[in-house]
Amino acid sequence: MPSRTRQGVASASREIVGCLVKLAGSMETVSEQRVTMDEITALAKRRGFIFQSSEIYGGINGFWDYGPLGAVLKRNVKNAWWRDTVELRDDVVAFDSSIIMHPLTWKASGHIDAFHDRMVDCKVCKHRFRFDHLKDASKCPDCGSKDALTPPRNFNLMMKTFIGPMDDTASIAYLRPETAQGIFVNFKNVFQAARKKPPFGIAQIGKSFRNEITPGNFTFRTREFEQAELEYFVPDDGKDIELFQAWVARRKAWYASYGINAERLRFYELTPQERPHYAKAGIDVEYLFPWGWGELESIAHRGTYDLDAHMELSGKDLRFFDEVSKAHYTPLLIECSAGMDRTTLTFLIDAYEREKSVDPNGKETERTVLRFHPFIAPVQVAVFSLARNKPELVERARSIETGLRTSFRTQYDEGNIGQLYRRQDEIGTPFCVTVDYDTLTDGTVTVRQRDSMQQERIAASALDTYLRAASEPSTGR
Ligand code: ATP
Repeated sequence: MPSRTRQGVASASREIVGCLVKLAGSMETVSEQRVTMDEITALAKRRGFIFQSSEIYGGINGFWDYGPLGAVLKRNVKNAWWRDTVELRDDVVAFDSSIIMHPLTWKASGHIDAFHDRMVDCKVCKHRFRFDHLKDASKCPDCGSKDALTPPRNFNLMMKTFIGPMDDTASIAYLRPETAQGIFVNFKNVFQAARKKPPFGIAQIGKSFRNEITPGNFTFRTREFEQAELEYFVPDDGKDIELFQAWVARRKAWYASYGINAERLRFYELTPQERPHYAKAGIDVEYLFPWGWGELESIAHRGTYDLDAHMELSGKDLRFFDEVSKAHYTPLLIECSAGMDRTTLTFLIDAYEREKSVDPNGKETERTVLRFHPFIAPVQVAVFSLARNKPELVERARSIETGLRTSFRTQYDEGNIGQLYRRQDEIGTPFCVTVDYDTLTDGTVTVRQRDSMQQERIAASALDTYLRAASEPSTGR
C-alpha cells in the first residue's frame, strides 16, 4: 500500500488540508484551463472511450466501463508501463496474484486495523474526517458549514465478500485494496523460482478495490481500479537511496517519452512528516487535472516494513540468504505504484486540444484533436477509400489496411475525406492513408499526419517502412 494510505485514515484530514494548499497554489494555472471535464466526459462517451457502468439501470457510483477505444487505450498504457518496467530490464520479473487472499494478509498489511475508524462526512464539501479528531462535531473543520456532518459511521475501506456458497458457513474475505501484498507474501517463492538476488524487482498489473466514500472526478477516484506496481528489493548496503532516485528518474523519463506535458506533471517530494515513520523517502507523481493537482503514482522507499510485517504474523522466514556473507537479511523495498485508470485519464486529458485552423478554401474551422503518442493511440493508421461506391477503390484500400494490420492498429473507413479526418483527429489517430484513383494507376497513396495536417504522396508499397519511421520506433509497439 502506497505511503500515505498506509499511514491509515488518521492522516486523512492532513491529506485533505495538504491537497487544498496544493490546489490553491495551482489556481492560477487551473483558471487558464485548456479543457473542462465536461468536454472530456462528453468526448469519452461519444467516441466510445469510457461509459458509466450499468448505465441502463441508472449507473453505479464509482464504477466505469471502457468502450472499444478506451479498452485499447488503457491496454496500450499498461503495455507501455510493462514494457519499460519489466521487458526492458533483466532485473524485474512478472507476477500475477489472486484478487482474494488469506484475510490475515490484510491484518499484517495494516488494512484491517487502519480502516476501521469511525468517520463523518461533510455533506457540503464532501470531505471526510475521523470522528475522534473533531474539536466541534457541529461544524465542518474545512468549509465551516454548520450541521453538515453526517453521524459517525464505521468506515471500512476494503470490500467484503464471502467464500463458500452457504450463507451460514461462508467465511469473510476481502477484495484486495492493492496488488502489492500478493507480491510480498510470495517474495520467497519468486526469488527462489526465478533465481534472483537483490537488487531485483517483481511487477504486476491488476485490479484493486476500495470502498471510497467519495468517488468522483470521472475515473480518477473509483471503487474498482487497476494498479501497476513494482516492488524492487535492494540490499541494505548504502546504495538504496541511489536506486530509489534511479527509479524516480526512470518513471519521469517514461511520462516524458510518451509525451505527457512536463509543465502539467510534478514530482512532489513528501516531507518526513508526510511519510510513514518507517519510510526513508517518498515522491508523489502528480498531474494538473482540470480540477487541480492529483496523484497518479506514488514512489516510496519503504524499508523492511512490509516483509517484516508478514514475517511477524505468519511466523515464516522471508529473508534472503546471502551466499557471500553467509547471512540472512531482509531486503529494503522501493515501490512504484501507479494507477492505470488515472494514467489513462491523464493521457486522454493531456492529449486533448481544440485547435483553430483555416481550410483549403480559406474558411476558418476548428477541430478537436487528441495528440496521442503513436504507441498509445488506439488506432495508429486509418485507411480510407475516397469513394464508397467504387469497388476497385474499396478493394484496394481494404487490402492496404489488411496488409498494415500485422504491424499497426488499423481501421478502414470510406466516404467524405474531410469528415473522416475530423473523426480520426478526435480519436487521436496519428496517420490517415487515402486511396484514390491515382492509386490504381501509379500505386501511390496520400498520407496525412494528424498533428501537422501535412499530406504527402508516397508509394503504397513503402507505407509500412514510412509509418514505422514516423511512429518514433524507439518506444516500440
Ligand atoms: P489517493 O490519496 O488519491 O486516495 P492513495 O495515496 O490512497 O491515493 P495509493 O494507495 O498510493 O493511492 O495507490 C497507488 C495508486 O493507485 C495511486 O497513485 C492512484 O493512481 C491509484 N489509486 C488509488 N486509489 C484509487 C482510486 N480510488 N481510484 C483510482 N485509482 C486509485
